[in-house]
Amino acid sequence: SVDIPISELALNPRRGGPKNLPIAEHMVDDDESDEKKGQKHKPKLVVLGTGWGSIALLKNLNPDEYHVTIVSPSNYFLFTPMLPSATVGTLELRSLVEPVRRIIKNVGGHFLRAEAVDIEFSEKLIEVASVDTEGNRQHFYLPYDKLVVGVGSITNPHGVKGLEHCHFLKDITDARLIRNRINKNLEKACLPTTPDEERKRLLSFVISGGGPTGVEFAAELYDMLNEDLCRFYPRILRNEISVHVIQSRTHILNTYDEALSKYAEARFAHDQVNVMTNSRVQEVKEDRIIFSQKTDKGIETKEIPMGFCLWSTGVSQTPFSQTLAAKLSNQNNRHALETDTHLRLAGTPLGDVYAIGDCSTVQNNVSDHIMTFLRTLAWEKGKEPQEMQMSFSDWRLVARKVKHRFPQAADHLKRLDKLFQEYDKDQSGTLDYGELSELLKQIDSKLTSLPATAQRAHQQGLYLARKLNKLAQAREGLMRNEIDAGDLDDAVYKPFEYRHMGSLAYIGNAAIFDFNGLNFGGGLLAVYLWRSVYFAQSVSLRTRILLAMDWSKRALFGRDLVSY
Ligand code: FAD
Repeated sequence: SVDIPISELALNPRRGGPKNLPIAEHMVDDDESDEKKGQKHKPKLVVLGTGWGSIALLKNLNPDEYHVTIVSPSNYFLFTPMLPSATVGTLELRSLVEPVRRIIKNVGGHFLRAEAVDIEFSEKLIEVASVDTEGNRQHFYLPYDKLVVGVGSITNPHGVKGLEHCHFLKDITDARLIRNRINKNLEKACLPTTPDEERKRLLSFVISGGGPTGVEFAAELYDMLNEDLCRFYPRILRNEISVHVIQSRTHILNTYDEALSKYAEARFAHDQVNVMTNSRVQEVKEDRIIFSQKTDKGIETKEIPMGFCLWSTGVSQTPFSQTLAAKLSNQNNRHALETDTHLRLAGTPLGDVYAIGDCSTVQNNVSDHIMTFLRTLAWEKGKEPQEMQMSFSDWRLVARKVKHRFPQAADHLKRLDKLFQEYDKDQSGTLDYGELSELLKQIDSKLTSLPATAQRAHQQGLYLARKLNKLAQAREGLMRNEIDAGDLDDAVYKPFEYRHMGSLAYIGNAAIFDFNGLNFGGGLLAVYLWRSVYFAQSVSLRTRILLAMDWSKRALFGRDLVSY
């Protein structure tokens, strides 16, 4: 197959769909061209996004089974876990990216540098927008048989005013902007025309958000200030520089084991990184940040003059995901697109659209399951559900069924046994309808989304590739009406099950590891282990060589403190 320039669509388009846009049907091979080439029919698979989820999928997909088209505004895969290192020049930006065209060579797919803006589910058309060199947007439809949405997330603004004065850290462009900004601040602070007060402000770095990204950035910044600043900026004194982390929770890295969070806090305290917990940013001004802090005296409003602010406070939905969620009937989660356990987008009429990675969450219909059970029980006993009582043994029976259907809920269900007893306020060994509804609310909140991590996106991409390979093989032996009649996904492959492999974080010449019970933190050895893990996970030999070169270069010559 050959790439057809988008401009040809404008010259000779077949138009259609609700918006009467050109349909790029000749970009994806179809039944007719398969027949002409004497090949078996291959379904059109479109993948949106080139992040962790999509790339794991593409690398594991059987190239003989699908005509693949990838749509993404980024023509590279970004190795995000090391992105904080690129903000201060420890690593170079190009060492963290792998060109998508190199990756997709194996699946023989088309790549379109464009973004999806909408989907017409009933007509199986994706509305795609491309931007030409003059900045004009061209919209067209791309048809699909199977579609995978892996468009990631955006930084959560939490409705705070003044975020235009902040930097974000999601993409390679963000890392470049941060690196330039830090460098400009340092240079300006050295000018003889800069008054002392302004100099202090320029050298005050604030990180809003004490999760892994914020903490790793603070650690990299601290390393750079300590190791290279004194050598190359003799006019700047170390005690003129301040690094502050504002965290809303009681600890930084609050998803890690508490001992590790405390270890990281102690390390930061030793390194003079000012961690402010129980604090919430109210507003960001051009030259200062205003926040409230819970103290023994109550809630106090404080402010810090700052020359740089990183906003890193969790993720939320991209505008595209919001458009899809608004269109579908069965989407109730504000933060991500809901899927069933087979990763099919909830509410889609044909079950042919999947969502993976940060943009998605596996729908929690555990409580529906329990209510159905209760209704059946009521019906069997000739009662209304409201009149029903659920005994502890009924509950255990349900819990077993739920565990079988939702293996990822196993741990939570153990804890819910305890909750059952707590809700059984009159110690009768049963719950009435009201108590049960309360318990179900708890279940829903306990089983909220899986973590928004590369680890999860990678596992989902891998899972989906394996299933799509199996689906393609299963299709060959089945008639069309047989396929439409049953749940083929369920027949060919198990539901998705997330396996948490552990978490690690760099905290400035030290690293911490949280491997499900095996938790430890340490200095140089731990840092080498941290590097080795990511070195091994890096996407290609090319990026591994570049990483090794960057680390050696920094050890020998220090970081390149320049702005581009
Ligand atoms: P992404 O990797 O975000 O990719 C989304 C893709 O979709 C991108 O290619 C984007 O260009 C494309 N896209 C966006 N909109 C559209 C559209 N409308 N149409 C088509 N394409 C679109 N996780 C860990 O497990 N460990 C870590 O140590 C870790 N460190 C991190 C450090 C940083 C600085 C950051 C930002 C994240 C880190 N994460 C880490 C989280 C991890 O990067 C994400 O969970 C992961 O990238 C999610 O993968 P994804 O495939 O869902 O989306």
